[in-house]
Amino acid sequence: MTVWDDLVGQEKVSAVLDAAARDADALVTAAAADKPLPEASKMTHAWLFTGPPGAGRNQAARAFAAALQCVSPDRALGGSPGCGFCDGCHTALLGTHADVTSVAAVGSEILVKDMRDTVRKSFTAPANGRWQIILVEDAERLNEKSANAVLKAVEEPAPRTVWLLCAPSVEDVLPTIRSRCRHLTLRTPSVDAVADMLVRRDGIEPGVAAAAARATQGHVDRARRLATDPAARERRAAVLKLPLRLDEVGACLRAAQELVDAAAEDAKQLAEEMDGKEAEELKAALGAVQGGRLPRGTAGVMKDLEDMQKRRRTRTQRDSLDVALGDLTAFYRDVLALQLGSRVAIANADTEDALERLARGSTPESTLRRIESIAACREALDRNVAPLLAVEAMTMALRAG
Ligand SMILES: [Zn+2]
Repeated sequence: MTVWDDLVGQEKVSAVLDAAARDADALVTAAAADKPLPEASKMTHAWLFTGPPGAGRNQAARAFAAALQCVSPDRALGGSPGCGFCDGCHTALLGTHADVTSVAAVGSEILVKDMRDTVRKSFTAPANGRWQIILVEDAERLNEKSANAVLKAVEEPAPRTVWLLCAPSVEDVLPTIRSRCRHLTLRTPSVDAVADMLVRRDGIEPGVAAAAARATQGHVDRARRLATDPAARERRAAVLKLPLRLDEVGACLRAAQELVDAAAEDAKQLAEEMDGKEAEELKAALGAVQGGRLPRGTAGVMKDLEDMQKRRRTRTQRDSLDVALGDLTAFYRDVLALQLGSRVAIANADTEDALERLARGSTPESTLRRIESIAACREALDRNVAPLLAVEAMTMALRAG
């Protein structure tokens, strides 16, 4: 086992990162021994990971962070850094390493106030003498101000600082930032590679693994969720029943309401799990006196936490809706494949009857229009259009006829 094992179907990217981690390790070792630093190095200060959702760009960045922090004694014997077991690897993968800071958008944008401390930290030396790593999980959500803050830091990084930026595509990142990054593209892993990983790593029964991998079309996390979580399977089954229900306006509006409600329920559950606990922890940290009263001047900090939690609720709801919309897109793609006479890549073999009915009852042109209406809904949600409005417009466009 190494840190690269979880990167499914990304052999090229793993090889590049492994080589860079080796050179990075040589650099740290030479510096620690006061020896001259190696001249040529595959290591660099800023990296941009792009690739389709689910391909594992965040996992790739995190695996690289772990390899850079690896302190396994095997390295001295010529082994690659990134053992997956030592304290450095383990805490970096877990997200608790003191020199690995990860930033993720909580709302639709990464705000400059959420970036300020991180940028400041990027100019400091790492606590353990290896690398100060800043991982930005969704660099496409940096807004103008926060992107400019990152740009300054990436332009003149501290000697041991490494920026790892993840985004769906290079176009999602400011040209001035991406021109300073080494760019790695992850590809969608094959259905077989995902199924194989589910069997090998998660011990999932091969038939279930294959079905989950096929249904999620190379989205690793979703495949694992579908294979292991009965609630996720139920949700998907309900979503895939929608297309046949959309026969009249009333049914379309009801279906839209159900989709939005289910996503809101997901967000509510997560909030119930986390909000209270976070507030208690923060109060304890702020030194609340008994009776729950907070020391003077700390109300602003509590307000920040509440704002963050509110943004997270909005985001969870949107992410959950996006999963449903992904399932719907896959469904109509299957309909189109049947209409065009190709059975090869059917993702939803378990709903074949519904697929066949829709394929017979409509034309490829209308199926394409429906796929486009789902894409339009996703874009509207991304622009923060009210979810119910966007989803209603979609279900009306999906209506048979
Ligand atoms: Zn290690």
